[in-house]
Amino acid sequence: MEKGCIFCDIVNGRTSTEILYQNDMLVVFRDIHPHAPVHLLIVPRKHVRSANDITEADRAILSEMFMVAKDMAHAQAVARSGYKLLFNVERGGGQVIFHLHLHLMGGWKR
Ligand code: 5GP
Ligand code: ZN
Repeated sequence: MEKGCIFCDIVNGRTSTEILYQNDMLVVFRDIHPHAPVHLLIVPRKHVRSANDITEADRAILSEMFMVAKDMAHAQAVARSGYKLLFNVERGGGQVIFHLHLHLMGGWKR
């Protein structure tokens, strides 16, 4: 739990954000400014600043993030049509919230 971190607040239930899925390792909710018809954020409960800061101890969390991403793609009916999974890393990579998260974006009409 990092003071002043909005994603720590969300994963700890301190906001009114609708949680689509959660387990002991992570939480999934919709991006507040979606860049796709389906735009979810898969967010570990543990505060890790960015992909630069992951450690050996985080292997299970990272694995779980991808497994849940795949399941959420099915649940949101974008698995077959396709989707993007994205980590923005640090400011130059477009990261604005410095709590690790995986973007799941899909649902475009093509
Ligand atoms: P980043 O650019 O750091 O990879 O992505 C952060 C994402 O978090 C952005 O797409 C932004 O719209 C989203 N976001 C920022 N604050 C909030 C919030 O309070 N609630 C939700 N649901 N999404 C947020
Ligand atoms: Zn945090």
